Amino acid sequence: VGEYAIEKMLTKASFDEVELSPKIREANKKTFGRDMTAAELVRQIVGDVRREGDAAVIRYTHLIDRVDYKPEDFLVTEAEYEAAEKAADPAVVESLRKAAENVRRYHQEQKPNSWMTYREKGSILGQSIIPLDRVGIYVPGGTAAYPSSVIMNAVPASVAGVGEIIMMVPPKNGKINPYVLIAARAAGVKKIYKIGGAQAIAAMAFGTETIPRVDKITGPGNIFVTLAKKEVYGHVDIDMLAGPSEILIVADKTADPVYTAADMLSQAEHDPLASSIVITDDAELAEKVAKEAEKQLAALPRREIAQASIDRNGLIVVADDMMQAMRFANVSAPEHMELLTAQPFQLLPYVRHAGAVFLGAYSPEPLGDYFAGPNHVLPTGGTARYYSVLNVETFMKRTSIISYTQPALSDVSEDIIRLAETEGLQAHANAIRIRREQK
Ligand code: NAD
Repeated sequence: VGEYAIEKMLTKASFDEVELSPKIREANKKTFGRDMTAAELVRQIVGDVRREGDAAVIRYTHLIDRVDYKPEDFLVTEAEYEAAEKAADPAVVESLRKAAENVRRYHQEQKPNSWMTYREKGSILGQSIIPLDRVGIYVPGGTAAYPSSVIMNAVPASVAGVGEIIMMVPPKNGKINPYVLIAARAAGVKKIYKIGGAQAIAAMAFGTETIPRVDKITGPGNIFVTLAKKEVYGHVDIDMLAGPSEILIVADKTADPVYTAADMLSQAEHDPLASSIVITDDAELAEKVAKEAEKQLAALPRREIAQASIDRNGLIVVADDMMQAMRFANVSAPEHMELLTAQPFQLLPYVRHAGAVFLGAYSPEPLGDYFAGPNHVLPTGGTARYYSVLNVETFMKRTSIISYTQPALSDVSEDIIRLAETEGLQAHANAIRIRREQK
């Protein structure tokens, strides 16, 4: 196929085009009494939570998550936390602690400083960097538990100096994974609510009788969570619209087909909608990776999910040369890009769009997912063209500082008055003129 066709294949569908499986849609029709797209359902949930507060959260948690709550049941209690500590394997807790430490160190290095600078005649300009007052973290938990996502959201927020961090996790039979609770406590999360899906996002965006309104919502989730974040954006800020996981591996003839196939599958097992792509200039390697992937897939506990993902979004592309491979990789703008080549740092300058780049045979994607330190909440669906990885600045905002002396203002008065009057804003011009005339 031609280059245009390949580029089409590598370009992701937007969120509005992703549809629910017929099975989920049928189940939802039974639950809600009418057939709705995911976007329609999310709009209804968000609107209801905004109007009715806790009552709507309780209703949707009952209908969707099959858990019956009173408002006082939302919050994780001290007793639940203590039970989690008892149930936890100390070796896992220790690995989580090490991972959190690496994430903290890395994000501390990202922390921007406020600054001030002197200009003409004693005037001062600058920028204050101010942490957000309250943020809400969504930690997915429908089909799997993600203590690593707790670390990746809460640690940067805490490094940023956020006033209060709250968290939402879907209840599985009313319970939360112990490691999710332990990781949250250790990272400084103050309140953990057992609420999931669109109702959790809406509750944080608008506040309810028992849940405080936040200034920003971060964290990944399924289609309902993501569409809800899109729906509440503007009332609160959001980090990004994170969709199903993706890996794109750029490989040359030196790449190990066993490693390459393993790395493809590491994403495929996430989600039937996940995508795993290899682009290589070596047709022989392409053949070997395809065979190896088939072999490894058969042995995976989550092979059904991985197979569905590979069938739908698995791709091995043979490019004419490595420059064409890099062009294709940038068109795809993947969440994770691996460079499995003899000299990966030589290709790094050609990476234009990727959430995170992993260089060389010993930097597989799960290293970044769990441990190295950089964040694993990354832009997906081609949005790496304009979104950045979650970072400390996600939890901070910038305020400009302006201070002029009278002589400094007098020097520039004419220009300002001229510009204000050109825009027909006489009061603006007056505010400058009266200060000049005081001289
Ligand atoms: P989730 O927490 O995102 O979703 C569970 C919630 O969705 C439930 O509590 C429920 O309220 C709602 N829901 C489920 N079915 C529904 C339906 N039919 N109608 C309305 N609402 C419904 O957990 P999940 O489903 O396991 O999804 C997790 C997602 O997060 C996956 O796609 C995974 O790949 C992604 N993820 C991404 C990252 C990342 O860093 N990018 C990390 C971890 C997970």
